[in-house]
Amino acid sequence: MDVSNLEAAFERITVTDENDDQLVTTTTYHKSKTSLSTAVSISGLASSNSAANRMKLPLQKLATVNSSKIVSANITKVTLPSQAAQHCSSDENPSHRRTLTESAIYAQPSGPKQWHLGMFEIGKPLGKGKFGRVYLAKERSTGFVCALKVLHKSELQQGGVEKQVRREIEIQSHLAHPNVLRLFGYFHDAKRIFLILEFAAKGELYKHLRREQRFPEWKAAQYIAQMAAALKYLHKKHVMHRDIKPENILVGIHGEIKISDFGWSVHAPNNRRNTMCGTLDYLPPEMLSGGGKNFYSEKVDLWSLGVLMYEFLVGEAPFEDTQVITYRKITRGEYTVPKFVSAEAKDLIKRLLVLDPEKRITLEDIEKHPWIVKHCQKGERAYNRASGGEPHSSSERDS
Ligand code: ATP
Ligand code: MG
Repeated sequence: MDVSNLEAAFERITVTDENDDQLVTTTTYHKSKTSLSTAVSISGLASSNSAANRMKLPLQKLATVNSSKIVSANITKVTLPSQAAQHCSSDENPSHRRTLTESAIYAQPSGPKQWHLGMFEIGKPLGKGKFGRVYLAKERSTGFVCALKVLHKSELQQGGVEKQVRREIEIQSHLAHPNVLRLFGYFHDAKRIFLILEFAAKGELYKHLRREQRFPEWKAAQYIAQMAAALKYLHKKHVMHRDIKPENILVGIHGEIKISDFGWSVHAPNNRRNTMCGTLDYLPPEMLSGGGKNFYSEKVDLWSLGVLMYEFLVGEAPFEDTQVITYRKITRGEYTVPKFVSAEAKDLIKRLLVLDPEKRITLEDIEKHPWIVKHCQKGERAYNRASGGEPHSSSERDS
């Protein structure tokens, strides 16, 4: 199969709504196009020069599962995307291209790779979510370091989130962008589901933000530019994330950000409101007000990007308050920006936090916005500045 076909196939990936019990469009596609049902293998990853690969793991072996119960994952062979932080203007992802090319070259006729727990050395716990734990892990045959997320089927069932997890896997396994956390594969045994995830060495962005209270403008701009690049990629694939917030963003070894948590991402809206229990802070007005649940689009992510940008610069979300007041503020678009935020930044926030979804600034125009351009010179990397300590720009505390 030639690469252009493969790329075309990826372009067409969409995700169906919550009423689908089957694994969705993408899987059907895999079944019908054998060359896309490439063996799952991360053996090619061994050559990655990622610093993560050189890490030493404190080993603590988990019980190996009965391999007869293991069902294979059916995901295209992948190559670790470049770990380099993205230039702010990053758009199309060259490493994505390389990945697809290599996946075509390395396509194994022998069928899908059978992942199982015994193939991994399990290291330290990286964190705990609502439904599972995440461990540092190393694939034994290649030494490739990844994060292994362990979900208990019984808990997923009890929580009524099986479809959501299925969708998360389906969506994330077909995404390959340096600012989107990679899902390399998955497998399961009788009790658990294991997700083989890209390891984000610097952890949660949320923790960085709390530690620093707020980010200097140059850093916020570089993060927002990376977010815009990731969203552009996702929206091109008709995936809306719908849960953009600092808790769902991880940080790679070079300080580059990686969107994760595709649990709420869909092509079509689902019954989110029935299960919504967290904060309202990042929800756009069109998802709050009763205009009919099918009336919102990927523009929801632009609103959330505005909230995110505000929180990066101010240290708290713009509509933060009691639930009732937050609700009211969001539906009216009421917020104030502190004086220490620069006029250019304020302008971009204003263009993102627009009540009418259609009038929000586009992702293309974000990249051209003066605030982004000013802080994201071509070739400049966030981690260069971060490691240098002081920002080059003196405008960090512009008012
Ligand atoms: P939720 O259940 O609401 O999604 P969560 O996102 O916190 O909660 P997980 O995605 O299971 O749950 O992750 C738990 C924690 O483990 C994260 O908050 C993060 O600190 C850490 N973690 C998860 N995935 C990775 C990863 N790929 N690399 C590094 N750390 C990770
Ligand atoms: Mg999460």
